[in-house]
Amino acid sequence: MRKKLVVGNWKMNGSLARNEALVAELRKLLRPDGVDVVVCPPFVYLSQVKALIKDAIIAVGAQSLSSAKEGAYTGEVSGSMLADLGCSWVIVGHSERRSGYGETNVVVATKVQAALDSGVRPILCVGETLEQRDAGVAEEVVGSQVDAVVSALGVEAASFVVLAYEPVWAIGTGKTATPEQAQAMHAFIRDRLVRSGVSAQGVKILYGGSVTAVNASLLFSKPDIDGALVGGASLVAEGFSAICAAA
Ligand code: PEP
Repeated sequence: MRKKLVVGNWKMNGSLARNEALVAELRKLLRPDGVDVVVCPPFVYLSQVKALIKDAIIAVGAQSLSSAKEGAYTGEVSGSMLADLGCSWVIVGHSERRSGYGETNVVVATKVQAALDSGVRPILCVGETLEQRDAGVAEEVVGSQVDAVVSALGVEAASFVVLAYEPVWAIGTGKTATPEQAQAMHAFIRDRLVRSGVSAQGVKILYGGSVTAVNASLLFSKPDIDGALVGGASLVAEGFSAICAAA
């Protein structure tokens, strides 16, 4: 009932030549029946990648956006600029933004709102650190990250947000949450949304953190895992298309 979604986060990787080669390979390999596929290159390559994709098989997303509409915000990119480029998705609150660029729950909520106001679908990242998991507060941390966005947006708008559960300890480390650990947190997130009044049965919750072609099928077999947010493995066409095929 919830169509699977696989999103590639290219992070700060790529070049005109490498993007061209990667998209050409993806166009050959991807069979996106039954799965929606999004790639998120750096801002400066959005137009190039959008033009290379040519057809609607792959959608294009950005990796962040400004919470402001326009004006004196040097270095920032607004939601309406993303929409202008035909960018239909944006990742918000990635742990690298939260830890490295001061994106608090409040900032993240305003960015999610800015995305929705611009007609760009937000992918809200949430997740706990290893210390938080070891201290037994993973649900508390993730729950408050979810609550901050739901209370800022209201329940109606919150149902348009895609969530990505990305345990910080699994991002780029080669350590994946077990399918059972991931399913448990996804079920917790969906329940938290329901308790807040969001009609959450249609809300997609992606898993992110060292997803590969090897572990994707088991993760996707879990009832509350609706796809993946993929970092490293999205830079290799064979691996990324195999993850999409597993969805
Ligand atoms: C990410 O950056 O969102 C991510 C999940 O990275 P990786 O797949 O490399 O762990």
